[in-house]
Amino acid sequence: MLPDDPDRDGLHQPKQDIDMIYQSDALTVNRLEGDIAELNFDLKGESVNKFDQNTVSSLTAALDALEAESGIKGLLVTSGKPVFIVGADITEFTSLFGASKEDIKPFTGINNANFNRLASLPYPSCAAINGFAMGGGLEICLACDFRVMSSAAKVGLPETKLGILPGWGGTVRLPRIIGVDEAVMWMATGADKRADEALKSGAVDAVVAPEQLREVALATLQGGMTGKLDYQGRREVKHGPLPLNDTEAMMSFFTIKAMVGQQAGKNYPAPVKVVEVIEAARGMGLEDALDVEADGFAELATTDVAAALVGVFLSDQLLGKKAKEWEQKADKKIERAAVLGAGIMGGGIAYQSAYRGVPIKMKDSDQKGLDAGLEEATKLLATRVSRGRMSPEEMGHVLSSIDPMLSYDRFDEVDIVVEAVVENPKVKHAVLAETEEKINDSAILASNTSTISITYLAEALKRPENFCGMHFFNPVHAMPLVEVIRGEKSSDTAIARTVAYANRMGKKAVVVKDCPGFLVNRVLFPYFGGFNALLRDGADFQAVDKVMERWGWPMGPAYLMDVVGIDTGVHAAQVMAEGFPDRMQPDFKSATEVVFENDRYGQKNGKGFYEYVPDKRGKPKKSVNDAVYDLLAPVVAERQEFEREDIIARMMLPMAIEMARCLEEGIVGTPAEADLALVYGVGFPPFRGGLFRWVDTVGLAHIAEASEKFSHLGKAYELTDDMKARLAAGKTYY
Ligand code: NAD
Repeated sequence: MLPDDPDRDGLHQPKQDIDMIYQSDALTVNRLEGDIAELNFDLKGESVNKFDQNTVSSLTAALDALEAESGIKGLLVTSGKPVFIVGADITEFTSLFGASKEDIKPFTGINNANFNRLASLPYPSCAAINGFAMGGGLEICLACDFRVMSSAAKVGLPETKLGILPGWGGTVRLPRIIGVDEAVMWMATGADKRADEALKSGAVDAVVAPEQLREVALATLQGGMTGKLDYQGRREVKHGPLPLNDTEAMMSFFTIKAMVGQQAGKNYPAPVKVVEVIEAARGMGLEDALDVEADGFAELATTDVAAALVGVFLSDQLLGKKAKEWEQKADKKIERAAVLGAGIMGGGIAYQSAYRGVPIKMKDSDQKGLDAGLEEATKLLATRVSRGRMSPEEMGHVLSSIDPMLSYDRFDEVDIVVEAVVENPKVKHAVLAETEEKINDSAILASNTSTISITYLAEALKRPENFCGMHFFNPVHAMPLVEVIRGEKSSDTAIARTVAYANRMGKKAVVVKDCPGFLVNRVLFPYFGGFNALLRDGADFQAVDKVMERWGWPMGPAYLMDVVGIDTGVHAAQVMAEGFPDRMQPDFKSATEVVFENDRYGQKNGKGFYEYVPDKRGKPKKSVNDAVYDLLAPVVAERQEFEREDIIARMMLPMAIEMARCLEEGIVGTPAEADLALVYGVGFPPFRGGLFRWVDTVGLAHIAEASEKFSHLGKAYELTDDMKARLAAGKTYY
């Protein structure tokens, strides 16, 4: 039987054959043998199923049809795609952020009504989870009476990673199915769960090989239909209060909240909100509990944090799409690579390439370098093996795909060579020219230089069109970003192949134009400039670090400089000063230079602004030696306290303004790419969404006020003309 008006949203097609109960371009309901209905999600024109508005309204219509159909005895819920359902359509979220709480509640309400109707059908239901079932994708499964999962599938409720919480019953049904502690861990971390984990915690009833999924799901459903499995009892559990008395609840929620709060940190409110919502609804039935959840969802959805995290998610998708487009432009897949220099970076690049399945030649001029490079790769792989993430055989295979050498043996076979020798223009020119003779005419050469102009390095080459920058961040295996730098003569092919290689290495590529510092270092050094000026004026480096860490940076500027290497930092600062003297050339001797001149190079030699000794696990432990204050005394004013807001403004403004220049000059294509480059390259706090998101959040008027207040600090604090024009026009970056 058809619903009253199957074409009410114009998307639904007429019934085509006798077994079809309902069809739209998002899903189909068919009647199978034995009076079982199959609800199959298969969103037309998309590679994945998701709960976009079309799917949600289709589900409403499908339920109308199911409720009107007589004689059905069970419902099987399946997917027609390799994934089950990946969750809500995040692009539809952005419209929520400007809305009021009252406006947001219907957003969750419509699909909650769907899931409640599904959960109350007068016959049992079973979800056959064949692939990713995330967020709403898992929540619909939780509304079903039974869940059978393919061993290849994954499930999870990742909403807190976006600064929100599951809004379609996840906070209500999951704790009632798997218990509060476990449910909180699932939601607070937002982690994907493998089939074995899901089975162990009781979130699914069975895990089977992919080819048996349908058969076992149907058999499970039959169990419910014949009364062998008690689906009504399961419904009572999910519709009733949590089975905890007051004392148990008090103890349990108190401990969980403290633990979750500590892990998430105060800048990420969603995980704690999840616990609060579960706690507040613990004595309630389904409807009331869903209401509490909806309030919690609306509260979080109106925060800047949610807007920033959803922004990061969407920008990440944009970045991925651009990287894929570049890859499609590449004339050739990257099958074999080489790296020159087996140092900190070269060794890391070799490991990452081999680990991701691209065999790599690792050439150094020094056997000691090769040994160190291989040792580092071995250490990283051994850690994976000891954590059970890799078998010893796989480790052997990866290691054997790194080919250490002192010669250019068979370099004519490689598709790309990454140069990572010492940061010296003369050495790089010589090495690049020599390498060009050894590789085939179409192979790409890319330099991992951190400061030297790509256009300048290309001068040593006969085929400058085959050359570009490929700037990794340290440590290579851990930092997601790679800047792919276009020199004046770099061809699209060179960029495309280099991005393709970055993709194969599992990295996030951002294509930028050549300039001193490229994108990330170009904006990072004005930030360090702000730091040096603060110290000159009497700020304590520890106090500045504390303020910036509270603001969200993983480490404050002094600590970061120590980690980067004071020598590296001082050298790079000089390059930046030459490139942009009007705003990056200090007219005073900086504290960082003094630290450098006293042979304090940071973590690498155990002393910088701070001092470092290895802890029991060999990790450098940070401490303060007051002697460093004596060293700094000649170049800093008498110690004084600065307002927190002033420290933030003095640090962040030069960075934000330089980033605006980069956008205006076309160094970077979009605010989204710029923001992600900082999140992935230097750990810019994701909950702030990046520099442009931060500027939009605090408002250009606020930035302009601060710029006025600190105008005496020089051009680094002066808004660009475009920023002024945006301010006047009330235009934001996003
Ligand atoms: P490193 O000193 O650790 O390693 C350099 C290696 O190059 C050494 O093993 C050395 O033996 C080798 N080498 C020197 N001359 C060579 C030649 N002619 N042929 C082959 N090998 C040669 O240096 P690193 O920190 O790995 O830096 C390498 C490059 O990466 C530099 O351009 C640097 O600016 C850049 N970079 C470094 C970082 C970082 O944090 N260390 C980050 C991004 C980029």
